[in-house]
Amino acid sequence: MAKRTGQVRVDDDRCKGCGLCVAACPTHSLSLSGELNRLGYHPARFLENTGCTGCGVCFYACPEPAALTVYLDRNVA
Ligand code: SF4
Ligand code: SF4
Repeated sequence: MAKRTGQVRVDDDRCKGCGLCVAACPTHSLSLSGELNRLGYHPARFLENTGCTGCGVCFYACPEPAALTVYLDRNVA
């Protein structure tokens, strides 16, 4: 049976640290970094091994073009 998992990459230079993706993620796979990016914002961070399903909700929640990229993996469970 195929189980879908995902990975998310955040482009720090495009992230404005609004937190909408963090709030929207159903698996709590995103958080805001404690560090500042070049724009002076706390960028989102993807948290490995937290059950990301690659659903894409974070992508659609993000108001900044190209700040988030979602990658899908298909593993055999
Ligand atoms: S793809 Fe879905 S599960 Fe994965 S981080 Fe984004 S909102 Fe969360
Ligand atoms: S929704 Fe987009 S701009 Fe806002 S914190 Fe997440 S990646 Fe950054």
